[in-house]
Amino acid sequence: MRYISTRGQAPALSFEDVVLTGLASDGGLYVPETVPQFSREELAEMAGLSYAEIAFRVMKPFVNGEIDDETFRRLVTEAYATFSHDAVVPLNQLDANHFLLELFHGPTLAFKDVALQLLGRILDHFLKKRGERAVIMGATSGDTGSAAIEGCRHCDNLDIFILHPHNRVSEVQRRQMTSVLADNIFNIAIEGNFDDAQAMVKASFADQGFLNGTRLVAVNSINWARIMAQIVYYVAAGVALGAPHRQVSFCVPSANFGNVFAGFMAYRMGLPVERFVIATNANDILHRTLADNDFSKKELVATLAPSMDIVVSSNFERLLFEAYDRDGAAVAALLERFQAEPAALAEAPLAKLREMFASHSVDDATILEVIREAHHRSQEILDPHTATGYRAAERERGDEAVPMITLATAHPAKFAEAVVKAGFPGVPLPPHMDDLLEREERYSVLPAELSAVQQFVAENRR
Ligand SMILES: *Cc1c(COP(=O)(O)O)cnc(C)c1O
Repeated sequence: MRYISTRGQAPALSFEDVVLTGLASDGGLYVPETVPQFSREELAEMAGLSYAEIAFRVMKPFVNGEIDDETFRRLVTEAYATFSHDAVVPLNQLDANHFLLELFHGPTLAFKDVALQLLGRILDHFLKKRGERAVIMGATSGDTGSAAIEGCRHCDNLDIFILHPHNRVSEVQRRQMTSVLADNIFNIAIEGNFDDAQAMVKASFADQGFLNGTRLVAVNSINWARIMAQIVYYVAAGVALGAPHRQVSFCVPSANFGNVFAGFMAYRMGLPVERFVIATNANDILHRTLADNDFSKKELVATLAPSMDIVVSSNFERLLFEAYDRDGAAVAALLERFQAEPAALAEAPLAKLREMFASHSVDDATILEVIREAHHRSQEILDPHTATGYRAAERERGDEAVPMITLATAHPAKFAEAVVKAGFPGVPLPPHMDDLLEREERYSVLPAELSAVQQFVAENRR
């Protein structure tokens, strides 16, 4: 198994290189050259296995023997032992045929833990094998940073520097990052906004000279290993509800499209899926593209579901590559046009996407309404991201006999603001985090200057 770029110009890479590389040299994203297939028998055998065992079986073809089976099994087992629920990602039945797939039982209470707990361990494994160290840099407006930090805190060969805008993330989100006191974790509060922080990270990737040859690694969702790890819970939920003997549908609160693309991969690997419903908040590029063929940027809106606040969906490129029959030149041309001006998809690829994907955009007022309604109907307090999915699942439901699985992407305690606005007294943090507000913190405040940040990284990496 090798990995190729969605723009067709970069060299094909092994699994190890693709995990360590991030963006392809032609600006594209890496995808597997062929899609591994599971037979009906192989899927049926997975029903009843532990999450870790399903994870091992689903991901093994992508790893391609580049990590030996025993080691890979250990990495997977360790990654999912950090989750506080024995089922790792339990299914919660809301009504006759609507289920919530709870992806928020990891260390930071959001679904990004599922991928980042494993990615940190895979990176550390490859770096140790090579006798190398690497630096991770990332910018966060709150959510991804903590999941990356938790995923790397035990990694001997990785140092991680996460930039957040000083005084502009919630106290819970800041403390989830800054109370991790391991020697390889560096939190930098930038005297600026999120865009300043992100621009400095991008500039550091573009010119890595300040690291004197040490590798800089990206752990955002362009990293293939994150998609790979997310394929697993689609398969696990599907077989738990009767696949391959019956179809299932998924509704996915979406932003950068990494999560729902993983679901599409599960479908391509043989999971019988009737449809995917994409839920967006007011930042609705995915919905506009699918519904109106309006593939254009729109100004960012700050919503009650902040982890879905995006202008561009980076992983949508991976789906475009499939829709355009893996024609890298056509994808590159479309994205070039999109960067400059409003663009549109060609008829045939758009028609293909509409066969599998429906979409729905949910505004803030509706998010609050849904939180109240879901509580009234099933005594569940939803987080605002999951609330977008709940509404989209109802609106875009296909065959009523097919189970609808809405992905619950965060724990409501993490986004208490929306829950309180909806009229509830708030949601307590789970027991393992209830002392978060008393824990010791460590972070450095730096000006929004590239040279200051790069000097800090160069001096503090180990
Ligand atoms: C990141 C995130 C999303 C969006 O996921 P994508 O893979 O970017 O589409 C949705 N909900 C929550 C809580 C998130 O943290």
